[in-house]
Amino acid sequence: MKNSKCPACGCTKFYVKNPEDEFDVYVFTCEDGEVCFDAESNESNSPPPVEDETETFCNGCAWHDRFQKVKIDFK
Ligand SMILES: [Zn+2]
Repeated sequence: MKNSKCPACGCTKFYVKNPEDEFDVYVFTCEDGEVCFDAESNESNSPPPVEDETETFCNGCAWHDRFQKVKIDFK
């Protein structure tokens, strides 16, 4: 199993924003290209779908790009 890492800081946690509320974020790790949401950070809401074009943010620094990059380039 390989966790994707942020190319800037090496953090393995990423998050996506709720399309309807940008202050509502969903933290996940990407293991072998699969999104694994962090249950503790997302206790109240069900996460939005994460697709290749979904803007994905690093949980440790200011890096962000499409999810496709996280899935393919940085595992
Ligand atoms: Zn980072």
